[in-house]
Amino acid sequence: MTQPFVTLTEIQAAHARIKPHVRRTFTTRSASLGAYLGQPVHLKLEHQQITGSFKLRGAMNAVLSLDETTRARGIVAVSTGNHGRALAHAARAVGARATICMSTLVPQAKIDGIAALGADIRIIGASQDEAQYEVDRLIADEGFATIPPFDNRHVIAGQGTLGLELLDDLPELATVLVQVSGGGLVSGVAAALKARKPDVRIIGVSMARGAAMHASLAAGKPVEVPELPTLADSLGGGIGLDNHLTFAMTRALVDDIVLLSEDEIAAGIRHCYEHEGQIVEGAGAVGVAAVLAGKIDSTGPLGIILSGGNIDMGQHQRLICGDPV
Ligand SMILES: *Cc1c(COP(=O)(O)O)cnc(C)c1O
Repeated sequence: MTQPFVTLTEIQAAHARIKPHVRRTFTTRSASLGAYLGQPVHLKLEHQQITGSFKLRGAMNAVLSLDETTRARGIVAVSTGNHGRALAHAARAVGARATICMSTLVPQAKIDGIAALGADIRIIGASQDEAQYEVDRLIADEGFATIPPFDNRHVIAGQGTLGLELLDDLPELATVLVQVSGGGLVSGVAAALKARKPDVRIIGVSMARGAAMHASLAAGKPVEVPELPTLADSLGGGIGLDNHLTFAMTRALVDDIVLLSEDEIAAGIRHCYEHEGQIVEGAGAVGVAAVLAGKIDSTGPLGIILSGGNIDMGQHQRLICGDPV
């Protein structure tokens, strides 16, 4: 059952709630991408968020919205890495125990980052959906509370705070590129932006290898797609066959979705390093990659989110040196 969409009021409440706990990340103008597109291009440096991704916004809002007795049961979640890291940080901030379930596709660097925050880790199955079974078991057998990575209104409202900051800094934006996996980020950001500026265009960006939201929109309902290894590992996983919010919100609020090849994503990571001086992970670079691939035409100022920076440094080094993907 689809729930009512997350509102601007909920996003503003989330902003006030999480403010003491998250960084207000900067925006910076990209001279090189501006010259390439013939329009001003601005980057929101969200990979510099605490825990290395925007996921802290949603996780923090959700944890702070739980009552004391629920928190005390311990919190379990499935993750491709960044939600788990954010949740481990947020749980620690309120003195709660976190257990993070991940598939074997999650890179070791991300697992190490979560372990360093004191969370319990379970590596289960070959996909995010298989790791979810362990979450369901822990909820049923051990009474854990769960905070899912995207299909939850507190999480979506938290991610939407990024949209509020973007428009406060850059009211002139005509188009914003937002990475899409489960759709929590794009639902929140689009809800915030379109409530305040209805004519802004929101373009979703995903990798071509296993784009579950794109396939679901095409099918008119949530569908499963095989989860495949990709440079944009944070964009892997399904949207949930009984999706409550992000499928309907993405369908209503997102104007288009573009898909990228692995080579295009690699070029995005390289560009961020060589021209912007930023180390970003594959998922974080897909907006830049979409511009470089010639898949974006904006008739006004463009906003791009660098959504995460948690990449294995050895892998980053190999990509920068131009090794084949
Ligand atoms: C989770 C994540 C995304 C996608 O967010 P969804 O809410 O699942 O669509 C994008 N970039 C990074 C770095 C992420 O960790």
